[in-house]
Amino acid sequence: MLADLCSGTAGGKASCIMKSKVKAPGHSTIRPADIQRDIRRDIRRALLGWYDQHRRSLPWRAKAGKRADPYRVWLSEIMLQQTTVATVGPYFGDFMARWPTVEALAAADLDQVLVAWQGLGYYARARNLHKCAGVVASLHGGVFPDSEAALRSLPGIGEYTAAAIAAIAFDQAAVPVDGNIERVTARLCAITTPLPAGKALIKAAATSFADAHRPGDFAQAMMDLGSGVCTPRAPKCPDCPLQKLCLAHAAGDPEKLPVRPAKLKRPERCTQMFWLENARGEVLLRKRPARGLLGGMTELPSTPWRAGDWPDADEISGAEPLSVAWTLLPGEVQHVFTHFRLTMRLVQGRCRKGANVDGFWVHPDDFAEHALPTVIKKAMGLILQAEA
Ligand code: SF4
Repeated sequence: MLADLCSGTAGGKASCIMKSKVKAPGHSTIRPADIQRDIRRDIRRALLGWYDQHRRSLPWRAKAGKRADPYRVWLSEIMLQQTTVATVGPYFGDFMARWPTVEALAAADLDQVLVAWQGLGYYARARNLHKCAGVVASLHGGVFPDSEAALRSLPGIGEYTAAAIAAIAFDQAAVPVDGNIERVTARLCAITTPLPAGKALIKAAATSFADAHRPGDFAQAMMDLGSGVCTPRAPKCPDCPLQKLCLAHAAGDPEKLPVRPAKLKRPERCTQMFWLENARGEVLLRKRPARGLLGGMTELPSTPWRAGDWPDADEISGAEPLSVAWTLLPGEVQHVFTHFRLTMRLVQGRCRKGANVDGFWVHPDDFAEHALPTVIKKAMGLILQAEA
């Protein structure tokens, strides 16, 4: 009960279950760190007991009591960044079927990996995945290191992913804080400091809960609770094993936590893309530069993706892959990136055999063999609409 949480303090206020060691700016009435030992014990017991009954069965997760395969944990954690479990499931199965070991993935061609990654987005992750597999295979004998520090030295593995692999695959006392754990912890402790400033408080609180004997299970239990019970909207508090220990529930409005900063409007950019067909019905494609947004992916030629008005005639003619009779197709499509929203128009043109252009020709029947990101597929959809 709340009164138990606040034992030794006056008034039973939510702000009294912790004593501060972390300084945080902002609004929080809670000052995390050093949560009372008996409360930490109660949280661990309640959560692990619930997990033993209700753990999710996931393709990358080991059976109860078994040690997880670090390769599967790493692959799933990279795929799950910015993506849901439901989306990742088929991709994970496909990757494991094609490349069942880290050595097999390291030996794969990067283009094959990018093609298999299509639809998961954030393609830098796929490039780093391939690079990381190469490092593990060549420098670590195909064995993932088991410490957070060594994991962090690998390509594409940041603070969260290193902690998740260390805890889940190696049962190290590491504390990954993903969106689910962040939400559960913020509510459990009623941390009201807005993100991102509140992240340090949440990490300190989550660290103080972590179970020294079952760190991997504890992290996964927090993830499962956040995914299925302590949901962003309408948390199922009556089903929650932590209900009696939860300050946000006691305060009556857990949905408000964690406090997120107001969303900024995404800047707008626009581009005109070129669908150029040759006499064999092949379409001109090109590769994007290896580094940067959608690095190494395949695309249609286009004007620069820029802010402001639609490109003028000079800009368009400067970007045209060939001077032919272009037809602007009806409609526009949009794609939302993390930092901007792109609106696209498509022009169609035809050229004779042997035209000298910068790029390569691919028949639409063979598009699946190329790493075409979703944004380009959306633009290509305007052709289908026009031909329908
Ligand atoms: S009691 Fe409700 S708000 Fe608190 S952790 Fe459980 S589901 Fe989340």
